[in-house]
Amino acid sequence: MKNTFFGGVHPNDRKAATASKATEVLAAPAEVIIPMSMHVGAPCAPEVAKGDYVFKGQRIGSSPAPVSAPIHASVSGTVKAVEPRLHPNGTKVMSVVIENDMQEALHESVVPCADPAALTPEEITQIVKEKGITGMGGAAFPTHFKISSGVGKVDTLIVNGAECEPYITSDHRTMLELTNEVIEGVRLAVRATGVKTAVIAVENNKKDAIAALEAALTDEDRKTISVMGLRVRYPQGSEKQLIQSVTGKQVPPGGLPASVGCSIMNVFTCYCIYRAVYEGMPAIERIVTISGSAVNEPKNLLAKVGTPVSALFDACGGFKTQPDKILQGGPMMGIAQFSTEFPIIKNTNAILALGKEENRSVEDPTCIRCGKCITVCPMKLKPIYMYQYEQKGDLEMLTKLNVTDCTECGSCAYTCPGRLYLVHSFRTAKQMLINAKNAQQQKEGK
Ligand code: SF4
Ligand code: SF4
Repeated sequence: MKNTFFGGVHPNDRKAATASKATEVLAAPAEVIIPMSMHVGAPCAPEVAKGDYVFKGQRIGSSPAPVSAPIHASVSGTVKAVEPRLHPNGTKVMSVVIENDMQEALHESVVPCADPAALTPEEITQIVKEKGITGMGGAAFPTHFKISSGVGKVDTLIVNGAECEPYITSDHRTMLELTNEVIEGVRLAVRATGVKTAVIAVENNKKDAIAALEAALTDEDRKTISVMGLRVRYPQGSEKQLIQSVTGKQVPPGGLPASVGCSIMNVFTCYCIYRAVYEGMPAIERIVTISGSAVNEPKNLLAKVGTPVSALFDACGGFKTQPDKILQGGPMMGIAQFSTEFPIIKNTNAILALGKEENRSVEDPTCIRCGKCITVCPMKLKPIYMYQYEQKGDLEMLTKLNVTDCTECGSCAYTCPGRLYLVHSFRTAKQMLINAKNAQQQKEGK
């Protein structure tokens, strides 16, 4: 069935604090910290050393692996250090630290394409690869690999503008403020992927964005590209749920979107494709929503990749109360942070500072066996049993319960009256299964 999916929840969207605020350009910081891993796949090796001068847009890290994305300097200046620094994933990751000379001196490779209309699909894909474009909404999968691996298998491109997580409005503002650029990025993505149909899917709580996108389509566009309003229900923007809502097709357990002929790209990814082709600019900036009740003045900010999060909070007037929790991402899928000294990366769409009343953590989480988690799981899993078997370390039962199909959407944790740390438990369970598989392969000498 189209336009719906099983399960899900309807959290208070709390988007009003920033939804109608135009994006402000954040002043470039004195120093940027650029991690060599901001994507799914092989991390990049640094191509610069301490003391080197780098230009804005210059490639500073790359990998020969097929699944990877090069990394570029977001400012011009001098490399101050190449060393492990705090990453939003909570670990230390090799990073290039650049002291900004505030000159915005562009690298010679940052040149617009002379004739975008004449580009072949392969040439568009090559530009996407060289400019380091990754998924900007979710897992940061390298976009060039998504395009090239889907050619011939994918007939529908779904442009994800659902933005279903509470608080976050960065994609909403992108669709409103950069409408023509997003549409041109979609046209380029259609040409690169060779799809017959592209659907820009937006939750119905963003009617102004839907209207703006509709108005920007030409009659020629409408033969291929359409805009679809979606029911407001979390996790509408999750890949499998989005595919079901837009096409009525169900991705089989363990399957990829391409298995049902679909490819998904975030709206900001499409904007980045536009910029890469029309300006020659790599993925070095991101619109980020800064929100949460502890923030003085929530905003949408256009910030350079590598900007310390503390600078974004400062631009919002700092904190009005001591935050109870700082998150990279939304409250459902975001990663808790213990410092504000980590940098924003390519796919950072929000940083939240939640006050006491918004933090749902409790000291003594207890299951009351209500079964609500089972009724809301959009993947039709059994969260309570997965939790119990993770606690026991029972890998066999975790495998039988398909814990690896968990998308970590957080619907179960949101609905759980016992406030169990369900998503954390499933992340742990998946890691336990990976560790067991690696240990088995080592034993067998593979
Ligand atoms: S078990 Fe996983 S997929 Fe299901 S609701 Fe919980 S987090 Fe979402
Ligand atoms: S929703 Fe929470 S309390 Fe209810 S069964 Fe699931 S884990 Fe237990």
